[in-house]
Amino acid sequence: SPLTSPLEIGPRKVLFGWKLRDISPLLKDPVAFKALIDLLEDHLRASFPRIDVIAGLDSRGFLIGPSLAQRLGVGFVLIRKKGKLPGPTESISYALEYGKAELEIQSDAVEAGQKVVVVDDLLATGGTMRAACELLVRLKADILECLVVIELKALGGAAKLEAIPFHSLLQYD
Ligand code: AMP
Repeated sequence: SPLTSPLEIGPRKVLFGWKLRDISPLLKDPVAFKALIDLLEDHLRASFPRIDVIAGLDSRGFLIGPSLAQRLGVGFVLIRKKGKLPGPTESISYALEYGKAELEIQSDAVEAGQKVVVVDDLLATGGTMRAACELLVRLKADILECLVVIELKALGGAAKLEAIPFHSLLQYD
């Protein structure tokens, strides 16, 4: 399958006992970076006849989402950590392994009924992606899918997304 060789991402560092999966080497290699965007584009074109918006999660979703949005000829919107976005926003607080975090989206980022794909580099517990989806639901977006490069399967994050469709290119335990 084309999903294997160019995108192997090794564990780089260990923090609090977690193996961090770092996409920096993938972005640094232009052939691998192009292969990544090709795979994501192919997956979305095969899955959905119409996409209106790509939403990216702070901060590594910002490294993937805009390239993908350009390929698809659609716009890109930002879901940011709290306090970064000007103008009226919706915000949500959610629990992390240690403490809590808050995400925000501009209130006019998407229109009601727009078909949105949410992208990030990695799904771990799924808490961040779930919070992002709750913001999009508040704006009455139609969430087509949550899409990540890497899924840490053992943490069961996909289950936290419940009925929202989810796809990952690479899976690790
Ligand atoms: P979670 O909310 O637990 O699914 O965490 C996902 C978010 O935290 C993503 O935005 C990731 O970039 C980051 N993250 C969590 N765990 C890792 C990890 N092991 N390696 C790299 N990034 C991670």
